[in-house]
Amino acid sequence: MRGLVAGNWKMNGDTAGALQMAVAVREAAPALACDLLICPPATLLHTLANALVGTTVAVGGQDCHANAKGAHTGDISAAMLHDAGAGWVILGHSERRADHGETDALVRAKTVTATSAGLSAIVCVGETESQRVAGEQIAVVGAQLAGSLQDGFEGVIAYEPVWAIGTGRTPTEADVAAMHAFIRGQLTQRFGAAGSAMRILYGGSVKPSNAAALLNLPEVGGALVGGASLQAADFLAIASAVRG
Ligand code: PEP
Repeated sequence: MRGLVAGNWKMNGDTAGALQMAVAVREAAPALACDLLICPPATLLHTLANALVGTTVAVGGQDCHANAKGAHTGDISAAMLHDAGAGWVILGHSERRADHGETDALVRAKTVTATSAGLSAIVCVGETESQRVAGEQIAVVGAQLAGSLQDGFEGVIAYEPVWAIGTGRTPTEADVAAMHAFIRGQLTQRFGAAGSAMRILYGGSVKPSNAAALLNLPEVGGALVGGASLQAADFLAIASAVRG
C-alpha cells in the first residue's frame, strides 16, 4: 500500500504561501514514493485545489459539519469542501475534540456525512499525556476507534498522541509500533480485509530529522504533519523519507 503524507496547516497560511507550496509540490510529487495531501484552512482550499489541477497532490479540509446543510452559522459542510476541490477531510483532530468538545459520536456522524459527500476521511485518535502516564493509551484509543468509525468505514486512521502534537516530543519507535499494531488488529477485527488494508498514519512532531525512523516502522502508512507541513522544504523532506 502506497504511503500518504498529509499536511495539516491548522489556522495558518495565506494565498501567496499556498501558491508557493503548490509550485514546490507540483515539481516534487512525481519522484516521491508516497501520496501527498495538503489540508489548508477552508479559505484556501479553492485556490490550492486550482493550483494543483493536473497533479496527483490532493487537498482536504480540516473539519466539516455533521449535517449535510442548514442553519449552522460559520460552519462548513462536507459538500462545500468537495465543491471547493477537496477530496479529503480530517475529522476528530485532538484540537477539535479539545477546543470544540467533539465526542466520538459526533466524529462518527461527521465521517458518515463526509463519506456521503464523496470525501475520504482521516479520523484522528490518540491519548493525552495523563492517559499515557496512567497506562490507559490502549483503552483510550480502542474506545475512540470503536466510537468514531461507522460500520463500513473506508478512510484512513491517524494515531496522534495528544502530548506529541506541536511539542517536539514523540513516542519511542517501540511505542509507535505497538500502538499501530493494536490499531491494525482493531481495524481487521471490525472491518475484515478492508481493515487490514487501511492506512494508519502517525502524527505528532514529525519533522525531517525523525521522519525516516518513524515512517518506516511496521504498520505506519505515512504521516499527518502539522507545523512541519507549512514549509515546502520540510514537508517534502518528510515525504522523501517514505520508502516505496
Ligand atoms: C497535527 O496537528 O496533526 C500535528 C501532528 O501537529 P505537529 O506535526 O505540529 O505536531
